[in-house]
Amino acid sequence: MIYLDYAATTPMDQRVLDAMFPYFRETYGNPSSIHRFGQKAETAVEAAREKVAKVLHCRPDEIIFTSCGSESDNLALRGAAIARRNISGEKWILTAKTEHDAVKKTAEQLEKEYGFLLEWLDVDQYGSVTPESLSKAVCNETALASVMLANNEIGTINSIRELAQIARANHILFHTDAVQAAAYLDVNVDTLGVDLLSLGGHKFYGPKGVGALYVRKGTKLVPHMTGGGQENSLRAGTQNVPYIVGFAEALYLAAEEREMRTNHVRPLRDQIIGHVLEGIPDSQLTGHPENRLPNHASFVFKDVDGNFLLQLLDSAGFACSSGSACKTGNPEPSEVVTSLGYSRDWALGSLRVTLGVDSTPGHVDSFLKTLPDLVEKARNLNHT
Ligand SMILES: *Cc1c(COP(=O)(O)O)cnc(C)c1O
Repeated sequence: MIYLDYAATTPMDQRVLDAMFPYFRETYGNPSSIHRFGQKAETAVEAAREKVAKVLHCRPDEIIFTSCGSESDNLALRGAAIARRNISGEKWILTAKTEHDAVKKTAEQLEKEYGFLLEWLDVDQYGSVTPESLSKAVCNETALASVMLANNEIGTINSIRELAQIARANHILFHTDAVQAAAYLDVNVDTLGVDLLSLGGHKFYGPKGVGALYVRKGTKLVPHMTGGGQENSLRAGTQNVPYIVGFAEALYLAAEEREMRTNHVRPLRDQIIGHVLEGIPDSQLTGHPENRLPNHASFVFKDVDGNFLLQLLDSAGFACSSGSACKTGNPEPSEVVTSLGYSRDWALGSLRVTLGVDSTPGHVDSFLKTLPDLVEKARNLNHT
């Protein structure tokens, strides 16, 4: 079985597991306790916070540890929107249909249940949110804009620096979901210029079930988990010490080895894109041709049931994806792919192939040998 779904999740790095291990049984204190058991655990959490802050180029007290990328997105959007409205009354939220559900559904809930107003930013044919579309949408009632750094389904990288500058010039808060991006892109919050940035550990060889939110000093958030005063009183609950240690180690390694990892996956990705577009009739690349994650290839095939293709690939020994929301038996095309302008007969046939540290040229060769026949098979069955 060959794994080509690193955008869904990654296996944990052995070095990360080794770093976590002592914090399950040896150093098991509660970081909030006064005694030395607690102090040792607190020291580990604070060292992890500093490690994360170094990668992000921010202050340690601007890092809030959470349970996952989704939670970070929830805290950012709900926390900032409500605080902003309480302070100065703005109630417009700007985001895009290309966002991960953790952002989209949170924005929709804020509209439905909390009385906010929601506007979807236009995206271009590559799924990018352009500076023009943000400029056009802001008004003096805008509280917050949220645009992802890199898209999980189509790999497109947004010009966050430019977008954040527009937000700042208009005095609105800017959040970016960097959960998919952090494995390969620089997440320096100073150069990006964002107020809020979400991360999730399992997308960069860290553990599942742990994330972080960067909150620029002075940005007011309403806590979404109330209780003890942990995490700057924004996220109550005893910290998950081993997972926080693992998260920090994984992010550190991602930054340290970024160039090496990029150089490893990029040629493999280019080989996949080239061969698929050349060798498979009625195929198109989704997302931006150049400005995309180096490990990410995504396509649509006309008149193909994408989920059926995934099953054929699985039977042939390849684990791929059709995009984040597509589940077996769900006949709806992905909202991300339809927002690029593809009609249903194309959008239903989406395929995402994402590479990682354990991907080899041999994996790619055997994948490229197998795929064309399977696409043809799925296409023929679709017509009957
Ligand atoms: C995976 C992902 C999430 C969700 O992260 P979890 O840690 O799985 O909750 C959010 N946004 C993007 C872009 C993602 O790729």
